[in-house]
Amino acid sequence: MSSARVVVVGSINMDMVAHARRLPRPGETLPGEDFQMTPGGKGANQAVAAARLGASVSFVSRVGTRVHGRALIAALRAEGVDTTHVVEDESALPGIAVIMVGREGGENSIIYVPGSNAQLAAADVQRAAAPLQQARVLVAQLEVPQPAILEAFRLARAQGVRTILNAAPALAVDPALLALTDCLVLNETEAAQLAGLPDAVQSAEAVARAAANALQAQGLPRLLITLGAQGVLVADEAGQRLLPARRVQAVDTVGAGDTFVGGVATAWAEGQSLDEAVRLGQAAAALAVSRVGVQGAMPRREELGPDFA
Ligand code: ADP
Repeated sequence: MSSARVVVVGSINMDMVAHARRLPRPGETLPGEDFQMTPGGKGANQAVAAARLGASVSFVSRVGTRVHGRALIAALRAEGVDTTHVVEDESALPGIAVIMVGREGGENSIIYVPGSNAQLAAADVQRAAAPLQQARVLVAQLEVPQPAILEAFRLARAQGVRTILNAAPALAVDPALLALTDCLVLNETEAAQLAGLPDAVQSAEAVARAAANALQAQGLPRLLITLGAQGVLVADEAGQRLLPARRVQAVDTVGAGDTFVGGVATAWAEGQSLDEAVRLGQAAAALAVSRVGVQGAMPRREELGPDFA
């Protein structure tokens, strides 16, 4: 088990999920069948994934405490994540996703309020300079403003810390940020969009390989393009290779990418090779998708068996 230091810069949300037989029409009120309130946000998810896999994790974020924000911070602390550099903002809302799920059609509607996630600033990140510069690996995603991520990558890179950018959701990425990225992680849809590929009519693997070619030509040194149950296309100076996913009975794939990123960051921070890091990330994600939930489904290191001890 490691205590490799990982810093995650990113988002944190409260997901409020109401279930009914079907989705309501505009203006309609329906009786609900169930309700859950669970912490989420790609940043917080990846921090929890890494902490459960044994990394020593610091989270850099901004949380509005007008509603639910303190509960979000407490939930992270309960996972062993260091929240010293989570800025609390009493006047702001935290990120909130209001999710309605219609059971019969398996459909959902979501209103996402970014709240304080949209306010994370370079100055917030500067206050976390010490943990950023002492980390082995820094991880960020695109649910917080890119100037804040760029500041974190600058501070970390100056001390030789390795950077992982999970380019999700699919957005244009500041070229200055890509230039400071040691490893770019994204799914094949995000990769095709970032690489500017036309709408795909090819297989997912062919799309991923074409996107990897284009992104490698832009100078990105390492790419991990995730392909769901097919696995991960790894592209680095040694070439491109598809590392297959574990075969499991998937019951809930929400958050698979976040578990994968948390695993990659943990193993990379331990000094393992990129392929070994992918292996840990895929083992953790395969176990997570075989259980219901997002953070609640993320495995602890010991659940992965002796190969990953
Ligand atoms: P995202 O959630 O970002 O779209 P993916 O769906 O590509 O990401 O999943 C990320 C990783 O999680 C995959 O590369 C794979 O290792 C694992 N994974 C996802 N779905 C499955 C599945 N059905 N069976 C096994 N592993 C899976």
